[in-house]
Amino acid sequence: MITDRPPRVRARREAFERSDRLRELPLPDDDRLVRAAREIERTLAAEDRAGLERACRTFCERAAAFFGVPAPPVRVLAARPLRRYRGGGRTELYGDYEFDSGLIRVFMRTAVHKKVTSFGTLLSTLCHEFCHHLDVHRFGFDDTPHTRGFYERTARLYHHARGEPYRAIAWVRAPGGTWRVDWARMRRRSG
Ligand SMILES: [Zn+2]
Repeated sequence: MITDRPPRVRARREAFERSDRLRELPLPDDDRLVRAAREIERTLAAEDRAGLERACRTFCERAAAFFGVPAPPVRVLAARPLRRYRGGGRTELYGDYEFDSGLIRVFMRTAVHKKVTSFGTLLSTLCHEFCHHLDVHRFGFDDTPHTRGFYERTARLYHHARGEPYRAIAWVRAPGGTWRVDWARMRRRSG
């Protein structure tokens, strides 16, 4: 996990910095998202795509109602598409967010072997895309950049939905004004 490069244009950089500083996220004090996440886990294990799509919608509807934003449309699709990168590498797309429609798409199978995605991966992808939606509709971060704050808000939503405590993310500076997660430090902390 690595953050985006800070934009050069001043107006965009200000929003970027506000997003970076916003590390907290209010969360429901009941289990409405935990229950919705359990239904995601159940339908994913049953490889029930239609049921999983309904469960992901319910999760996003409940979260949207809590945050006071419009509920985003959600689609669950089969295998992840492969994306070709400059330099010839390929990477799998886990999900995406469409700005204009607010459509969230997540994929339930791996690109090559068509294996069912793990629950943790699918839920964290859904939380990631939902946080893009929150950025646009609640926080006014129109570019919805991947800042440290963005990843921390996403992680808070994810851990809350799994009914587990939030684990603070350890960051280390990377080139170009970016930050990446220091997994080794995080493992030592929790070890
Ligand atoms: Zn993203």
